[in-house]
Amino acid sequence: FFYYMITPMLNGKAILKELSSLLNIQENFYQNTRQILVAPLRQFSQVMSLVFDITAPNFSSTKKVHSEFIASNYDLCCRLQPQWLVPEREIPIYSQLAQRCQVHFENQLNLEQFQQRSFFFQNYAHIGLFSVNATHQIVKFNLSNDYLKTLENPSATLIAYFINSNNKLQVANKVTFNGLSCSNFIQPFELYQQQKLNFLHFQSNANYCLVYLAKKLSTQEIFNQLLQKPLLTTEAFHKHLTQSQFKIQIVSTSEEDDEELELQNETISLQSVLTLKKLQFPVRSSLCRHFNKVMELEDYLAQIRAGKQATCHICGKPSDFSQLFVDAMSYYLLQKGYSGSVVVGEGIEQLGKEDLDKEEESENVW
Ligand SMILES: [Zn+2]
Repeated sequence: FFYYMITPMLNGKAILKELSSLLNIQENFYQNTRQILVAPLRQFSQVMSLVFDITAPNFSSTKKVHSEFIASNYDLCCRLQPQWLVPEREIPIYSQLAQRCQVHFENQLNLEQFQQRSFFFQNYAHIGLFSVNATHQIVKFNLSNDYLKTLENPSATLIAYFINSNNKLQVANKVTFNGLSCSNFIQPFELYQQQKLNFLHFQSNANYCLVYLAKKLSTQEIFNQLLQKPLLTTEAFHKHLTQSQFKIQIVSTSEEDDEELELQNETISLQSVLTLKKLQFPVRSSLCRHFNKVMELEDYLAQIRAGKQATCHICGKPSDFSQLFVDAMSYYLLQKGYSGSVVVGEGIEQLGKEDLDKEEESENVW
């Protein structure tokens, strides 16, 4: 769990300029590498590959191979965000460069847990890890043109995690990004507000601020994640679901496990209890005991995005994302084309189906 910490961040071009000067070679040497000795050339390509996470030729390769590698990647690296990979062994010139670029070695922080921490975003690129403290609560970073272009896409965003020295996510009380103030946000905090500025001001006890370029997941994509888990249902409905391809998990309908398995007709509502719209993505908390009504994932996400607590809005039970599952019976009925209210007992009966048919008929008359 070693990682490099970057603060402040230099752009690729500035880093390569520092490296050239450390190796005592001209800044534009790569256009004509004949007058350069093989040793600095090898060091240059080795360090370049570590800073920018690109595969370099073997260190013992010929001078020609190294100079071709540098010539073909130099311009690209000027535009890339530095990654500062951790080398397997100490490389003095790399350490010196890191020092010059104010990159500090950090061995306490476990970033892997944040690589894919959120269910609402997919991390796309690491922008930087910044050290912060009570008096220095501002973060500034450079975004390459490639990243700015990516951010023009409405599904792209910047997100920030605030982390304390125990590797725990830290709640920031108030965050100002590009002059826009926000509070009551979910973590990670979504930064990008369609502006080109790139500084972040916040109030927090956090020790670090971790910034990613990320993709905002659509409701469908989030639902697809939930479909990877077993779908929940109750014993009474199980027999109707044997034809489905679902991986089912049975949940008791009562708090006590010794429930009566008496089969009775149950009316299932396929409407959102909040908006009365037809359910699209029926979900439930693993703690919920109601099977005739379920949550709509859209409503759940709206609640989370508004900074409200992750609870079931039908029964109030806690329902963070790890407790959220697809409701098997509602999902099955929706897939079979049912809507409104459906009675499930020995069979499945659409309530109000006749009325719907009549409406369709009257439409045909017109
Ligand atoms: Zn509930």
